[in-house]
Parts: sequence; C-alpha cells; structure tokens
Amino acid sequence: MPRANRATTTASTPQARALAKDAEPQAEHRSPWRRLKSLPFWGVHAAALLVFVVPFAWKWVALCAGLYGLKMFAITGGYHRYFSHRSYRTSRPFQFLLALTGTLALQKGPLWWAAHHRHHHLSSDQEDDIHSPGLRGFWWAHVGWILSTDYDETETHRVPDLARFPELVWLNRYHVLPGIGLAVLLFLAGGMPALVWGFFVSSVLTWHGTFCINSLTHLFGRRRYRTSDDSRNSLLLALVTLGEGWHNNHHYYMASTRQGFFWWEIDITYYLLRGLAALGIVWELREPPKKVLESNLVTSAATPGPVDLDVATLEAP
Ligand SMILES: [Zn+2]
Ligand SMILES: [Zn+2]
Repeated sequence: MPRANRATTTASTPQARALAKDAEPQAEHRSPWRRLKSLPFWGVHAAALLVFVVPFAWKWVALCAGLYGLKMFAITGGYHRYFSHRSYRTSRPFQFLLALTGTLALQKGPLWWAAHHRHHHLSSDQEDDIHSPGLRGFWWAHVGWILSTDYDETETHRVPDLARFPELVWLNRYHVLPGIGLAVLLFLAGGMPALVWGFFVSSVLTWHGTFCINSLTHLFGRRRYRTSDDSRNSLLLALVTLGEGWHNNHHYYMASTRQGFFWWEIDITYYLLRGLAALGIVWELREPPKKVLESNLVTSAATPGPVDLDVATLEAP
C-alpha cells in the first residue's frame, strides 16, 4: 500500500494537502504492470479525440448525451445507491438489469464497485481511505487508485449480501463483455460516428463525472453537517452526476435514497427512482428522518458523526 509519503504533508486544509501530495513523487505506484493496465483507459481517451475527425451531426451528440444519462443513472442509482448502500429495494430481475447497465459505464463490476465504496465510507479521509484527495492528492483520488494494480481484487467479504447472487458474481467477473457488446452494436448501427460519440466520448465523460465525486467533493463545496471526513455539497457536481454532488449530505446519512435532502437540492437520480417506484419497479426508498436533518449541523455545537445502517444486515430482494 502506497503510504510512505503521508507523514511528510503538513498543509492544514484538504485542498492544500491535495496539491502538496500531487507534487510529491509517487514512484511506488509506477510499476510496469500499472502502465500496461492503463493502456485501455488512455486508449479510450485518445479514441474520443476522433470526434474532430468523424462527420458531425447533432444526432450523435444526442446519442452521447442519452448514453451518458443512462450510464450515470446506472452508476448513481444502481452501483451506488442500490448495490453499495441498499437504500431501496427491487426485484431480482431489475437488480440484474441495474448491474448490467452499470457495467456499460466501464467501472468494473457491481461487487467490486460496491465493496470499494463501502470501504471508502468506513474510513473516509482517514488513514485507510483508498481515495482521499486530502491524504493522497487530487490526481490519486480522481484516477490514480483506479489505474493502480493494488485494488484490482473484489473484496467479497464487504459484499456478502450481493455475493450470494450467482448472476451478479458472473457479471462482476465478466464485466467488460457488455461494454464491448455496446461498442460493437453502436458501430454496426451507425458506423464510426456512433462508435466515437456513443462509446468513446460518452465513456470518458461518464468516467470523469463519476471520478469527480471521489476527488472534488472531498475538496470543494459547502459542508452542512459535521462528519468525520471532508465531504462537501456542490450543486454543479450534483447536476453533472445526476445528484451525487450532495456528498456531505450522503456521508452524513448514507442510508437515504435521496441525497438532495431539500427540495432545492436537485437530485435527478432520486426523481427517476421515484418514477420507478410509482411504476412499482422499485420500492421502500429511504428518507432521512427529520431529527437527522436538523442535528449535527456545522452551524450548531452538536456532536459530530455520520449515521448509517449496517448494509450487510439488510434484506435482499
Ligand atoms: Zn456512498
Ligand atoms: Zn466520499
């Protein structure tokens, strides 16, 4: 685990610490394997530049935006709020559909994602946090930890509630297949413009939109609630990520399906889930109790501390 430089950083704010850590040499992360592993990631970025070569049409932009919305919802409403936090319930077929759509975002499988995310909540901005920008720098929190070979394994012991579904375990193992299938389908349906806009550009945007939650929402924005980490709320990032920008709210009460706690905190994922609930596809969406909303405010002298449910004890569909 690359922690050798931590003690040398003395800056006081998370932003200053992130900048200082970015400036430090991180040679221990630069194994040859890491470089090889990074090739597909940077290859997709390079291929996205073909937007300047392929013929332009607004329909390709709409295709890109539509797939961005679908994949981002699958990550926020599926990988995050369902698989990681089990903040609502659904049927086993729709659970699989959420997982399958999530794999199209090319962020590995649902068990891998949920296990690492649960780890993040257990030790946010503490010594063991995998992607704390304050402890390891902005770049590491944003993308470095994903390209590192240190975190490739699925920590199944953190997701026993998910690992008992063989179809999810299978999808977790072969998580690249649906994404490759999507790329082939796009190429067959619309040629190079559909492939470039619908797959490469859309993938890059979905990646960095999601990664901003690990990096920027622990550095910039406002803190409403006292938590033991540096999580913050940001309207801009909430718009980009369909609601995940209310990260301080989320770290404070992560059992809630909604992350925008008040009507003015736009949370598109929650609105979509409410729509699915109205259709009977999902149910038991969790809300933060009024008492929780009003306690631990940064402006009060209340005792700090997040509130959570033990996800491993929740019932499966
Ligand atoms: Zn979370
Ligand atoms: Zn966080």
